[in-house]
Amino acid sequence: MACACEALYLVTGDGLLLEYISRTSMPATAYRAIVERVDSLAYNVRGFRFKLADPPKIEFKAGQFIIVNVPNNSAAAPGTAPATAGTVVKRAYSIASPPHDPQALELCIQKVEGGIASTYFWRLKEGDPVSLSGPHGNFLLKDSLDYEPIFMATGTGVAPLRAMIKHLVHVNFPRDIWLFFGCRYEHTLLYESEFRSLANVRHNFHYVPTVSRPKDWHGETGHIQQTFQKHITDYANKEIYLCGWLEVVKVVCHDLQALGVPADKLHYEEWA
Ligand SMILES: Cc1cc2nc3c(=O)[nH]c(=O)nc-3n(C[C@H](O)[C@H](O)[C@H](O)COP(=O)(O)OP(=O)(O)OC[C@H]3O[C@@H](n4cnc5c(N)ncnc54)[C@H](O)[C@@H]3O)c2cc1C
Repeated sequence: MACACEALYLVTGDGLLLEYISRTSMPATAYRAIVERVDSLAYNVRGFRFKLADPPKIEFKAGQFIIVNVPNNSAAAPGTAPATAGTVVKRAYSIASPPHDPQALELCIQKVEGGIASTYFWRLKEGDPVSLSGPHGNFLLKDSLDYEPIFMATGTGVAPLRAMIKHLVHVNFPRDIWLFFGCRYEHTLLYESEFRSLANVRHNFHYVPTVSRPKDWHGETGHIQQTFQKHITDYANKEIYLCGWLEVVKVVCHDLQALGVPADKLHYEEWA
C-alpha cells in the first residue's frame, strides 16, 4: 500500500544529507550555540537546550530540523588518537522547542551505541560550544489550521511534534489536538509529566501514551495505531502527523490506511 510522502530524508551519512540540502537549496544560517542544559529524558535519551550565541536568534517553523556539525573524533576510545581528527560529520536533529522561543533550541537525542554524533552529545556539558546550521525541512503544519491535528510518534520521533503542540497551545488553537505517543516501556515515555500536565490544563489536548511492553502500567497498551483506532473513528477534518524511524512510520502509515485513513491526510517525516 502506498503512503503519501511529504518528507523523506534518507540520512545515514553526510553525502545524502548534503545532497538533500543542495537539492532543496533552502536558505540556512550557521550558528554558534552554547549548551545551556542537559536533561535525562529516559535511560537512553537526553534533552539538550542550546542557547544561541551568534547569531543570537533563529527563525523557524515548528517541525523543522537543524544540522549539527559534529567533530569526528568523538567516537574514539578514550586515550587513543582519533584517525579522523579535525574532520566534521553532519547530523540532522528535529527541533523539539517551539518557534516562540527563538533564542534557544531544544533537541531530544537517543544514544546509539558507537554512534559518532550521539557519543559526542553524551560528552557535552553545560557551557560547551556547538556549531550548527538551520532551519531545514518541510515537515510543517498545514497553514490553514481549520482542522484537528492528530500527532503520532514513537521515541524521539516526538521531537518535532512537541514543537508543533507547543506552538498550537501558544496560539490558543481552539480545536482538539491528539497525541498518540508510543514507547516499549513506561519509563521510556519522553516528556511524560509535561504532556500529562498540559492535558490537565488544556481540555482540548488529548494525550494517549501507549506502552507496548508494560511492566507496571495502567494506561493504554499495544501500538499507537491500535490506540488511534480506539479513539478516532471519524477522519473528516483531521490531519495526521507522524514522525520517527523509517520502519515504524512505514508500518503505522500502512495500518492507518488499512483502517481507511485517506493517504492525503497523512503527513510524515521518516528518519533512516
Ligand atoms: C530530519 C531528521 C531528524 C532527526 N531528528 C532526530 C532527533 O530528533 N533525535 C534523534 O535521536 N535522532 C534524530 N535523527 C537521527 C540522527 O540524525 C542520527 O542519525 C542519529 O543520532 C545517529 O547518529 P550517530 O552519528 O550517533 O550514529 P552513526 O555514527 O551515524 O551510526 C552508528 C551505527 O548505528 C546505527 N544507527 C543509527 N541510528 C540508529 C538507531 N536509531 N537505532 C539503531 N541503530 C542506529 C547506524 O546504522 C550505524 O551502524 C534525525 C534524522 C533526520 C534525518
